Amino acid sequence: MNENKIYDTVIVGSGPAGLSAAVYAKRATLDFIVVEKEYQGTGQISESECVDNYLGLYGENGFDLGEKFRNHAVELGTEFYNGELKEIIPDTNGYRLVVSDKEILSKTIIYAAGAKHKMLNVKGETEFSGKGVSYCAICDGAFYKDRTVAVIGGGDTALGEAEYLSDVAKKVFLVHRRDSFRANKALQERIRSKNNITVVLNAEILEIIGGDRAEQIKIAHDGKTELIRTDGIFIAVGTTPESSLLKGIAQLSPGGYVAAKEDCITSARGIFAAGDVRTKPLRQVITAAADGASAVYSVEKYLFGDYS
Ligand code: NAP
Repeated sequence: MNENKIYDTVIVGSGPAGLSAAVYAKRATLDFIVVEKEYQGTGQISESECVDNYLGLYGENGFDLGEKFRNHAVELGTEFYNGELKEIIPDTNGYRLVVSDKEILSKTIIYAAGAKHKMLNVKGETEFSGKGVSYCAICDGAFYKDRTVAVIGGGDTALGEAEYLSDVAKKVFLVHRRDSFRANKALQERIRSKNNITVVLNAEILEIIGGDRAEQIKIAHDGKTELIRTDGIFIAVGTTPESSLLKGIAQLSPGGYVAAKEDCITSARGIFAAGDVRTKPLRQVITAAADGASAVYSVEKYLFGDYS
């Protein structure tokens, strides 16, 4: 990283959107650097047991797919800088990015910082985090071999985690607050075919209870309070965009996503939002990768072409 020059663009984040942007930025011969918080990161995809909807790479393990994305960017000569972005300061030449204790100057920013796990915000969640409460089945599932676990949530992540855990644990409770899942139908069918998964619908989580570790979940279910005894609790209730650094700089949606259309152009001149952090109808690996390409195309137009 060179603190004395002004980059064409700085790509913030090394998930599928950021890595795809790096590949396209290399092809566009832009002078750029990728800033990543996690050393040699590949984003949330690394936590996915199986990605079976990325075109041409059926049934790929998420970690391996992320490595392929990263290797592609590395092979093309992408430079990465490992550090946490602390502040973005508008500047006459573009932006100053405060990363750890350094400053990077850039004409534009491709902001692809992604999203982080949402918390349930119930009593016991923080207390037992890492002591029976987890947000990643692929990371922690192996600890629950032949034991009982509960997965909370009704989206693709929750059902994917329940499916994965059903091959490791003896029994899986899948606890969801409504009477239907929002996860894709094929996954729902696979869950129904598993005889060690018990689905508990219309259940509100009230509290996580335990001693040294989490032991039970208290739920409100069918007008009654019930307890589910479990060794591990996997919380998969969605994600929150990592957009706080853009507050006051670019327009955010009520949910905190960076407002931008398919061209990734935000309300802040020279800042482009790509991937899960952007307002979009479908957050998938393939749409994140597409954003990376579109963002670079918009950067090129901004720097060298027509841009209103
Ligand atoms: P999501 O689709 O937002 O689902 C979150 C789930 O958690 C919903 O079922 C929601 O319930 C529930 N929930 C939210 N807050 C809750 C609370 N306070 N208490 C209890 N339950 C709560 O999140 P996601 O499953 O992480 O998926 C995020 C995006 O990534 C989606 O677009 C998804 O399709 C995508 N994704 C794709 C793949 C893949 O293609 N392989 C894998 C994983 C994720 P309600 O349904 O009642 O709102």
